[in-house]
Amino acid sequence: MTGRWVIHLPVTAPDLLRARIFARTTARVLARLSACVDPGEVTVSAEDEQGVHHRVFCDRLLPGGARCALPVDHTAPCSRRAPWLNRR
Ligand SMILES: [Zn+2]
Repeated sequence: MTGRWVIHLPVTAPDLLRARIFARTTARVLARLSACVDPGEVTVSAEDEQGVHHRVFCDRLLPGGARCALPVDHTAPCSRRAPWLNRR
């Protein structure tokens, strides 16, 4: 064992698009609360195909070692933070 535990928190959504949106939102909120959350590893799956995981964040490795924080299907260049998070 690694000495760490993983929380599996079943939450349902009516389709893949909304499941990804809800998973990204949940991961971002939880990541603000705890450094133990790894948003890049968040995936969603169909209830009857839980062995098939769909990523929700791009998570591509960027220069300097950071990871892309944009949705997996983004068309803009990879970014460490989502542009809408930089607005005040
Ligand atoms: Zn990216």
